[in-house]
Amino acid sequence: MYILIVILAGTISLFLCLYAHLKLKEAPGARPYFFVTLLSTIFTFSYAFELASTSLEQVQFWLRMEYLALPFIPVFVLIMCFEYVGQKLKQWIYYVLFMIPIMTIFMLNTNKLHHLYYTSMQLSNDGPSPILELEYGPWFYIHSIFVFSCLMIAIIVLLRQLKKSQFRFRMQVLLMVTGLMIPILASCLYLNDLTPYGIDLGPVSMSITFIFHGVALLSFQMFHVSPIVRDKVFESMKEGVIVLNQNGAIVDYNKAILNVIPSLNFRAIGKMLTDMLGKESTLAEIIDEGKECDYKVCIADKITYFHISFSPIQNKRNMQLGKIITFADVTERVYLQEKLKQLASMDGLTQVLNRTFFMKKAEMIIDDLAITGGDVSVIMFDIDHFKKVNDTFGHEAGDVVLTQVTSIAKQHLRAKDVIGRYGGEEFILCMPHASLEEAYEVADLIREKVCAKRTSFNGKDICITSSFGISNAFIELGNNSLSLQGLIRQADHALYEAKENGRNRIYVYGN
Ligand code: GH3
Ligand code: MG
Ligand code: MG
Repeated sequence: MYILIVILAGTISLFLCLYAHLKLKEAPGARPYFFVTLLSTIFTFSYAFELASTSLEQVQFWLRMEYLALPFIPVFVLIMCFEYVGQKLKQWIYYVLFMIPIMTIFMLNTNKLHHLYYTSMQLSNDGPSPILELEYGPWFYIHSIFVFSCLMIAIIVLLRQLKKSQFRFRMQVLLMVTGLMIPILASCLYLNDLTPYGIDLGPVSMSITFIFHGVALLSFQMFHVSPIVRDKVFESMKEGVIVLNQNGAIVDYNKAILNVIPSLNFRAIGKMLTDMLGKESTLAEIIDEGKECDYKVCIADKITYFHISFSPIQNKRNMQLGKIITFADVTERVYLQEKLKQLASMDGLTQVLNRTFFMKKAEMIIDDLAITGGDVSVIMFDIDHFKKVNDTFGHEAGDVVLTQVTSIAKQHLRAKDVIGRYGGEEFILCMPHASLEEAYEVADLIREKVCAKRTSFNGKDICITSSFGISNAFIELGNNSLSLQGLIRQADHALYEAKENGRNRIYVYGN
């Protein structure tokens, strides 16, 4: 009966070996898995023959056959587990791992000379079939420690992976670990003489191990969708990724997502993401809507922008099973865009708005005033005889004067006012909620300051004056018919009058 069980175990190993050879060629861990099942097949069948042997010579022959395969099995199991978790072993470790089984085979075959492996060997006929009774020598214990160490290291390697793995891959790793525990248990029973008739359960237990690995392999496609590949790709992604099921519960996430949602941890798996974020949060709203957008995060005083994108997870029948949300860090892109926008809106020399952007801003001011109602004033000013400055002191000196005039003007503006360069040495101000008197006051301050300013250039003082034209309108609540162009024309007209009437003065349109 036991021989039949052993033969069955050998057949299972053979089947798994063929399966590994035919189906799992490229998968991580598949090659050592093939060798391990092949060795297990050789060992188990040899063991069956050993059990069926009737003489000590026959037993010794099959024992030697068993030992051609057995010592290498833990080595290949260990290599399989390392490959499975994606860790590479150093060359010298391979040498050490293979040296010990080779030594074991050598010791066994030369045992007669030194008795380092067995001190005595005889057949017992107490059981249903003759059983080999052995007294062990020191090398046997070295070999046993080696086997246990290999299996324990394999288990530790897998358990470490288990800790790192999320999602369904835990089941696969657990099956692998459980499989490895079986021969350890069997050996403990055998070594403590707890097995029936002192039968070595090792060979049968090994086949059970590989069945476990086979089940992991078949039902979870262990080697196809290896957790390693998944973890490697998923965890090394720069983008933060979070996977939600169709109800919005968290299924999985990677490390990079912690830059966006630092409070995420493994306990969050299975919980609703929006509950975690709090219903009020902007991020929860974005995720609810599922619309691609940029999202600003401020963590530890550092502002980061993420581009959030959504991809659905569907089954073969196009049923939505959940979604993958990806957060790509686009901070650099956003800053670059802001910089470009600023460059496009500013006048390079004077650092005030260029004409196009001034017009946009001023239109916005007038649109807002149509909602609230209120005064708006426009001031246009122009440097007097600026051509002379250029002609006398050079173009560079003219540039310095221009920057100084704008910096004086900026000092007298309120936060809500906007200033722009309207033409060469002509500037324009739009002042919401500023009465004519207030606008006049500002214009007069600027005029006085410009007039009083002495610009030193190449050891010479440059003095200039400026002329101003002001227009004003009161916008009734809800009246959006006021034309900015009209206001500017009026201010320009007033400025023309100021020039005509002697310069360095302020004219108000209509007065
Ligand atoms: P008015 O009092 O009538 O305004 O006389 P003006 O000389 O100031 O006016 P005009 O329009 O004749 O000359 C303007 C000059 O401003 C001509 C142009 O070369 C100069 N200008 C325009 N833009 C710049 C600039 O960016 N830098 C310098 N240095 N000069 C500029
Ligand atoms: Mg001028
Ligand atoms: Mg001019």
